[in-house]
Amino acid sequence: MKWDLELACRKCGKPYVATPWKALDVVTNPGLRDVITAPDFNMNGCPACGYSQAVNAPFILWEAHFNAVVLGQRFKIDEAIGVIKTLVDTRPDRTDVAELVIVFGVFEQLKKALTNTNLTSFRIPIWDLLIRDWSGVKHPLEDAADALVQRDMPERAFILYAEAIRHVPELYADTDVREKFLMSAHLAGTRRAPEQIDDRTALEQAQEYEEKLAHFANQGEFLAPYQVDYCPIDEASDMDKGFLEGDRHASTVALKHIELPRMGDYERVRGCLLVSFVLSATENWLGTLEPSLTRWRALNQMRFDAHWPRLHPNSKDELRKWFHSFTGASILE
Ligand SMILES: [Zn+2]
Repeated sequence: MKWDLELACRKCGKPYVATPWKALDVVTNPGLRDVITAPDFNMNGCPACGYSQAVNAPFILWEAHFNAVVLGQRFKIDEAIGVIKTLVDTRPDRTDVAELVIVFGVFEQLKKALTNTNLTSFRIPIWDLLIRDWSGVKHPLEDAADALVQRDMPERAFILYAEAIRHVPELYADTDVREKFLMSAHLAGTRRAPEQIDDRTALEQAQEYEEKLAHFANQGEFLAPYQVDYCPIDEASDMDKGFLEGDRHASTVALKHIELPRMGDYERVRGCLLVSFVLSATENWLGTLEPSLTRWRALNQMRFDAHWPRLHPNSKDELRKWFHSFTGASILE
């Protein structure tokens, strides 16, 4: 089964309707296995200039013992859930459909999965993507926010929580996060952090979050009758590299706000540090075997290297101290 998808030609830029695969049932049609592994899978030609391009559209593969969803593009988690729902609704016309659905971020991951049986040993229930129990994870974001409160900077703690929740609203479902967020808002009173753009007090902002996000506290929707897992890594033997790919897939959206022109260099790095916390939150939220500080530091390092060289040495020193004071991590050049 295929679907129509409007896209622009990468060569001439003209829009046209491509017809990538939507669902492939390889149990009923074993020949479709060759279609997936063929180099011209999902290649579509531009009617205007003839240029042929691969379409990274989401699709589902109905296998005998599991089913695979490939997202193919970056989605926010709630959008991804919608796509997964649409695809599992294509249900093949047979009674022995497997219950397990494994979600892959990129097509390459599925191709590796089809040849590497170890791959599927690392999976996260999709439910954990929706509702993450943060209480079990000692989290650098919480550490940082706690340290800020202890250092009498609740207004900064509030900003950290607000940033994380703004990018990952599902976190609001966690009682612990929600309580600490509201507590930091109360403690902040009328104080404002330098990074704060909003004119209102922390408490006023927190009330708006409460109005908009209270529904996350009682998430009821699920993908019954399927057991849906997310597979964020390529393969166990290539974990670090593959995992980063999975990370980026879900978290790139968090980087956007540092591109705002209102930020100067100094603010930009502070923004990057904030975003690193958000990425770290996303990382833990995605789930890891060992959500370690080492890995988190590596992410911080990775994120602001690009912005670091343009800074004045005094700014660098100040940032180093600021960063180290509540993360314990060092900034390396
Ligand atoms: Zn074209």
